[in-house]
Amino acid sequence: MRLRRRSALRGVVQGVGFRPHVARIASRYRVTGFCGNDDESVFIEAQGEAREVECFLDAVVSDLPPLARIVSRDEEQVPVIDDDEGFRIVASRSAPGALTLVPPDIAVCEDCLREMADPGDRRYGYPLINCTNCGPRFAIIVDLPYDRASTTLARFAMCAECAAEYDDPTNRRFHAEPTSCFACGPRLWLETADGEVAQWDEAIEQARRILADGGVVAVKGLGGFMLMCNARDDVAVERLRTRKRRPAKPFAVMTADVSAAARFADLGDEHQRELASPQRPIVLAPLRAGSGLAPAVAPGLDQIGVMLPSAPVHALLVKDDEVVVATSANRSGEPLCYRNESVLEALGGIADAFLLNDRDIHVPVEDSVLLADDDCVLPIRRSRGFAPLPIALTSSAGPSVLAVGGELKSTFTLTRDRMAFVSAHIGDMGSLAAQGAFERSVDQLVAAHRCAPALLVADAHPGYHATAWAQRRGAESGTPVLHVQHHHAHALSLLAEHGAVGRSVLCLVLDGTGYGGDGTIWGGELLRVEGSHAERVWHLPEFALPGGDSAVSKPWKSAVALLAACGCADEAGPSAVAADPAELAVVRGQLRTGIATVPTTSAGRLFDAVASLLGIRHTVSFEAQAAMELECAARRCAQLNHRVDGDLDVPALISDLLARRNAGEPVACLARRFHIGFVHLIVRAVVDHLDGAQAVGLTGGVFQNRILVGLLMSELRRRLPEVPVLTHRVVPANDGGLSLGQAVAGHLLLSGKGEARCA
Ligand code: ZN
Ligand code: ZN
Ligand code: FE
Repeated sequence: MRLRRRSALRGVVQGVGFRPHVARIASRYRVTGFCGNDDESVFIEAQGEAREVECFLDAVVSDLPPLARIVSRDEEQVPVIDDDEGFRIVASRSAPGALTLVPPDIAVCEDCLREMADPGDRRYGYPLINCTNCGPRFAIIVDLPYDRASTTLARFAMCAECAAEYDDPTNRRFHAEPTSCFACGPRLWLETADGEVAQWDEAIEQARRILADGGVVAVKGLGGFMLMCNARDDVAVERLRTRKRRPAKPFAVMTADVSAAARFADLGDEHQRELASPQRPIVLAPLRAGSGLAPAVAPGLDQIGVMLPSAPVHALLVKDDEVVVATSANRSGEPLCYRNESVLEALGGIADAFLLNDRDIHVPVEDSVLLADDDCVLPIRRSRGFAPLPIALTSSAGPSVLAVGGELKSTFTLTRDRMAFVSAHIGDMGSLAAQGAFERSVDQLVAAHRCAPALLVADAHPGYHATAWAQRRGAESGTPVLHVQHHHAHALSLLAEHGAVGRSVLCLVLDGTGYGGDGTIWGGELLRVEGSHAERVWHLPEFALPGGDSAVSKPWKSAVALLAACGCADEAGPSAVAADPAELAVVRGQLRTGIATVPTTSAGRLFDAVASLLGIRHTVSFEAQAAMELECAARRCAQLNHRVDGDLDVPALISDLLARRNAGEPVACLARRFHIGFVHLIVRAVVDHLDGAQAVGLTGGVFQNRILVGLLMSELRRRLPEVPVLTHRVVPANDGGLSLGQAVAGHLLLSGKGEARCA
């Protein structure tokens, strides 16, 4: 049967080589018709036998140009045209007021790497090389529509050769807005305390020498600066830790290619695919024994964050099987450095040299982080390569919403029509510098989309800086502010990714800290979510946390408090022994009287407490350190078939662990038993409260624990084989995804579906 189908593809479809791509695919099928673009979509009309047309349209979206992203696809049948011949690209149409999308920053592509390595090429060794398929975008865009004049390259006039490439539809730099070369583009140089010391290849050579000698170099990449040092040199890595005041939080490393990475990390297919993807994220993978990396790179952990070069300058710096620490350049607790003017001052005491260029970064964009496994990819930080690609919302279009996110791992989300634009990672909102970066990024996205938000959405926590910012901005601009309970927002972010907003879903939220609707700290919740409402149908048993959120840095406090709540005496346990005696006396007093304690149901604090009870860690220098080490211990347990009594509740599980610990059972086995027992009791709660829910959702920061996820998924499949389980694929399960859920709550309110309520 012959038919003609019209397809409209929306997303990042401009300036990414999309129309030539469609024409190329069309030549492989027996179809006639045309394709073209307007401001918001690529439109295709294809005619032929039904099966050919279908296969052609599927092929168009299944094998996209590297920078292209499809957000929505609408298709309709149109009348067949009798004398249609051939397949053409037609002229662009412009629709007034239409939505163009900001493309994300994409790592240097294979073609550019090849040119950069070819002594005969005019861009041989050019460290800022890019093309239609790669290079900076989001980080350098000042305004929309996206063309060179509205990027930070506006002040560099293209030379005749670059301009000819830019104008030639058959050239791979056709409409590559940031294109440049030695003759016309930005410059690269190296600076030390003595000022500028070298340019171009001499700058790279000197930087390589400094790295080889154990020094620290700050390197400007696509979206900000990175600090690098030799990852095989323990003295160099320790020096970087001391200077950065970062005693233990793991560093990521960079190496030239997948085979070099495979020497120190166990890489499965999924790891390799993600490492080499155009987003070039940091991928977490098992660290090989005898890896040769300095122990200080990831102290006490069995996983390593690996990345390949994202900017061309990285590929010139890191060669063969060299491996360098590559960590965001910032002072502890502050946001990423991205401006030449401020980096020298901010990192003067940390870096020995600075590899700079004068291609300005307009907004900072951090590396993305992924956890990849055989059967799943879990975003830990959604930033470069992904931000600010929108997530399609299912609720009807309404006025714009600006959701400001949480306190740590912060992002914000702006909605326009039926799309939610989630920002790049901003980080810890505690510093003035972070709040400045936050405001700048908000203003960029709001201005680019020319939409004044009709509603601001913030967390219900009265102490969050972003919440205070929203209140100030709301008062200044007369915009109302909606407050959404933390875990309710986590749940809505998960539903938004799956297009499941409005369905009845039982969401298991396992999280560190979140302000509960009743003033206590939540974080181990079963929320039954439907539309804008959530009902708290179950939670982990409460225990009184001395000092509230301040106990986060001292897991021994959580341990002592948990034991008190469970009615277990453990005067001589490792947690009590590790505590400062005076502080321990204060904590015991607080627990006795209830003064200055806050009840909590946080799963994060429960994991902290168990890490301390097992003697694994009593104080932490970064969030989730104790929980990560507990997971790591559980992975060391070789007996995969520990039996745990399925009827244990939390107090019984804890006293069972203590009895076994006191009987000398190995810590690895205890850690694994805890994970198994915890999963049993959680799944029992899910089964008990399922009550006709259409799906079970898993969200919250604790779901970065892979042992937990693995055990939980298999137990859910066993007990509830019919019920779909939703997990995060697009935004992180941690607070990096919070702003998306808040935005959904705002969207629901504005489209008349009710105010977010969680009780
Ligand atoms: Zn390229
Ligand atoms: Zn040029
Ligand atoms: Fe959270």
